[in-house]
Amino acid sequence: MPSGTRATPSIAQVGEFAFLSRLLPSLPHTPGTLIGPGQDCAVIRGLTRELLLTVDALVDGVHYRPGWLAPRHIGRKSFLVNVSDIAAMGGRPRFCVVSLGVPRAYPARQLAAVERGIVAAASSCGTAVVGGNLTRAQALFVSIALLADAPRRRVTRQGARPGDRIYVTGTLGDAALAVRALSARRQPPSGARRRFAEPPLRLRAGQYLVEAGIVSAMIDVSDGLLQDLGHVCTQSRVGARVDASRIPVSATYRRALDADVALALSGGEDYELLCTVPERNVPKLERSAATLGCPITCIGEVVRGHSVRVRNADGRLRRGGATGYDHFRSPQG
Ligand SMILES: [Mg+2]
Repeated sequence: MPSGTRATPSIAQVGEFAFLSRLLPSLPHTPGTLIGPGQDCAVIRGLTRELLLTVDALVDGVHYRPGWLAPRHIGRKSFLVNVSDIAAMGGRPRFCVVSLGVPRAYPARQLAAVERGIVAAASSCGTAVVGGNLTRAQALFVSIALLADAPRRRVTRQGARPGDRIYVTGTLGDAALAVRALSARRQPPSGARRRFAEPPLRLRAGQYLVEAGIVSAMIDVSDGLLQDLGHVCTQSRVGARVDASRIPVSATYRRALDADVALALSGGEDYELLCTVPERNVPKLERSAATLGCPITCIGEVVRGHSVRVRNADGRLRRGGATGYDHFRSPQG
């Protein structure tokens, strides 16, 4: 990340508490926040229904390299990757707490931009930032814990059954296309770069797919389609067949890679929803395409067994395998 300059004091120069004393009063207050930030815990209105709780982090040097994301986008993306997990279970995000790790020399003004990115993204999803923590760290990280109202139905990765159709929202591969170009110090196509910086919002789609009882299993695609489909198959004790020619890709992707969908199958960071739909629910799903707020495409079907196989253009099946992103193996995310 850019280092501090004389014009803009570092967070070490401003100080944690001075920084927080300016930040905290600026956080939006919602009616459900009984005691907001500044105490040991936030007090939120007693909820009589089930809640969803998730946490995720974005780490400098792990999820991106210097210059890949503007500070505001670091904040925004940190929140949206959490929302993606909530969307995958059909929840309504309500409250979050933020843990920031910051190198001493990190410019305070940029840290304020990170915070603004988090708060703006949270507000746009009806979520209040009710607290957090700031610590010194070797590299910038943003960790967010997000609480959501759970839907009445519980949809997990475990409900897929042989015969179910496999659907995916939006398009796949653009974020991976951007990462590949950026890693090679090339300028990615602008559409791909935008997609890397800004995960799609699939809350409405997730809520509808769960509440309308359409899906038997769901997951968000964060580590690559084949890997995340593999998680569904493992947990549901089924296999899957995916048709490579049906993988939805953007015009940007097609211009860059033509019909080669390898990156769309295993690239990662798509944050689309992958779901399985019993055949009896397919007509209902096809009728409700407009309600979802995004395209949804059938890419294959659930089968007996335990392997994920991909049918290529030549009609041959090959083993999909888990070829997506692994935090402790992959060199760069
Ligand atoms: Mg997930």
